[in-house]
Amino acid sequence: MSLAVLERLGLHKHPRILTGSAIKPGTPTPTPGQVVVTNPATGKAVAAVRLDDAASYEKVITESQEAFKRWREVPAPVRGQVVRAIGDAFREHKEALGELVTLEVGKIRQEGLGEVQETIDIADYAVGLSRTLSGPMLQSERARHRLYEQWLPLGLVGVISAFNFPNAVWAWNSMLAAVCGDVTIWKPSLLAPLTAIASNDLAEKVAASLGHPGIFRLVIGTDQEIGERLVADKRIPLISATGSSRMGKRVGEIVAGRLGRTLLELGGNNAVILHKDADLDLAARSILFAAVGTAGQRCTTTRRLIAHESVVDEITRRLVEAYRKVQIGDPLKEGTLVGPLVSPGAVETFLSALAKAKEQGGKVLVGGERAANLSPEISGGNYVMPAIVRAPANNALPIALQETFAPILYVFSYRTFDEAIALHNGVDQGLASSVFTENLHVSEAFLATSGAGSDCGLAYVNLGTSGAEIGGAFGGEKETGGGRESGSDSWKAYMRRQTVAINYGKELALAQGIRFGE
Ligand code: NAD
Repeated sequence: MSLAVLERLGLHKHPRILTGSAIKPGTPTPTPGQVVVTNPATGKAVAAVRLDDAASYEKVITESQEAFKRWREVPAPVRGQVVRAIGDAFREHKEALGELVTLEVGKIRQEGLGEVQETIDIADYAVGLSRTLSGPMLQSERARHRLYEQWLPLGLVGVISAFNFPNAVWAWNSMLAAVCGDVTIWKPSLLAPLTAIASNDLAEKVAASLGHPGIFRLVIGTDQEIGERLVADKRIPLISATGSSRMGKRVGEIVAGRLGRTLLELGGNNAVILHKDADLDLAARSILFAAVGTAGQRCTTTRRLIAHESVVDEITRRLVEAYRKVQIGDPLKEGTLVGPLVSPGAVETFLSALAKAKEQGGKVLVGGERAANLSPEISGGNYVMPAIVRAPANNALPIALQETFAPILYVFSYRTFDEAIALHNGVDQGLASSVFTENLHVSEAFLATSGAGSDCGLAYVNLGTSGAEIGGAFGGEKETGGGRESGSDSWKAYMRRQTVAINYGKELALAQGIRFGE
């Protein structure tokens, strides 16, 4: 299947991609000059990808500077037409690209397809935006003066993406950047370079066929050789980086050192508060998807359930029952709900977090081991049984304060809503949050306009924490990084603001009524 999907995408003879005996033996750790892509569902090598070095990086950047000079002259609605055609190309290749996402990172088929759909959606969104990018006309304090803001293309945008959204994170950035008049330089995760090559080539080919080559560029390499070079590069005014908070702190520091801009989309430690009057059927189904979907490898995965003491046992019982029925296995097989973790290292992280949870007084109620009894063809994959851990009665469970990027749901209980909010907000991350309640007072307290409720960038009522729509601004606070991507006014990150004042009279009028040498 693996080579067939590369063929369907026209990648089997791609100069960057090596297959069969051309793959140097080794682990996914980059051997000099190449990285081996391993299918997490089988543990088998799929292909290898040639890496960039300093010279090829330099070529990409200098060519991108030239491309930017041409692209910024193209009217925004015309840029939008290019993005419209790119969206159509993704529609056409949705099945194959979705399968490639599954092959590289192990998402189940539905989620692989959903990710490509997100790219199509953001392309549509960007097309509309291409006709509405605008700035306000402001009131001047001076007679016969006009004051307004205009938004101008920014230049080169560096996009660093995490493995778990190997296609959509790039699209959220690059489709908006394209209509804003920018050139995107994408540095994907070394766990998902094939999806990056396929997606970038598709966008670049469409743009080139419409007379606009060089708008979408790719650099693939190690963090030391290519990642840090990109981040430190003064020719790139914006670095949009998605990944762990550890990575964001490093990237943020380097970019701040050159007074560049960052858009940081980092780790989450998302919780659901379950009030005593919650609809438990709705909550159980929502929490199941948000906690085990994508094998717990979404930034918005529900990692903590904070349930009122009167319903905590019942919701836990229902979830344990549901976890026992979840189909774990081949991500391409119909009916599978949980595929593999991305790497053997991720399995070790999962197991060691659970060992710590037990040491700290947590009780594993279900799951928590490697998955057994898998069919022979997937027995080399990185499968685990999603776990639910009940925190001790005093709610002290330090491991739950960290983001473990795996399917572990920690359950806490509370008596008063203030207690629930304190637990909810008592972590370093601030991405997605949710409350299940039928009570207006409770939901409004969670969303309080004073800010005393949820401290996250995303706050939902009667929805799980994962599965954001592209129309809203996406991102989070605290160690999640503060960035906003995708919908609403996120486009502003990809442009530079210019305040314009025009004197259309004949008099010199100084602001603040200052008289000077009259
Ligand atoms: P990661 O931090 O290991 O890597 C993310 C990206 O950063 C990769 O492309 C990596 O090569 C690059 N990188 C790492 N160090 C770098 C450096 N010094 N210089 C330049 N680039 C560097 O994260 P991951 O394991 O790929 O993804 C999982 C993490 O991403 C989780 O923490 C998850 O919550 C987070 N995530 C956040 C969002 C969001 O929107 N907030 C979305 C998806 C994933």
